[in-house]
Amino acid sequence: MPKHFIKPKKEKVICQKCGQEFMGGAYVDHCPFCLWSLHVDDEIPGDRKSQCFGLMKPIGIEVRKREKIMIIYSCQKCGKRNVNKIADNDDFEKVIQLSAKSRHDKHEN
Ligand SMILES: [Zn+2]
Ligand SMILES: [Zn+2]
Repeated sequence: MPKHFIKPKKEKVICQKCGQEFMGGAYVDHCPFCLWSLHVDDEIPGDRKSQCFGLMKPIGIEVRKREKIMIIYSCQKCGKRNVNKIADNDDFEKVIQLSAKSRHDKHEN
């Protein structure tokens, strides 16, 4: 097994932004309702090595190859940028809003 492989573990998470409960896994740590996330990963998505635990604000959308949609996050505590794949149960309406917003806020941090 590769050293950095992390077995997805399902766990109930309560969103610290909107208070909704959702099932999180190793690669799903953002809220499907408001899309906010927590700064828990350091260098590798799913590594859970970060000691920050700041709230991560979704600031934009990045579309990668094969229509893979990534959410761009900015940590409200330490300022670190991260990207995370959208999950199947994410509120797609919110994702659309975010992509529209990121186009408008291009010059904002
Ligand atoms: Zn939420
Ligand atoms: Zn942080």
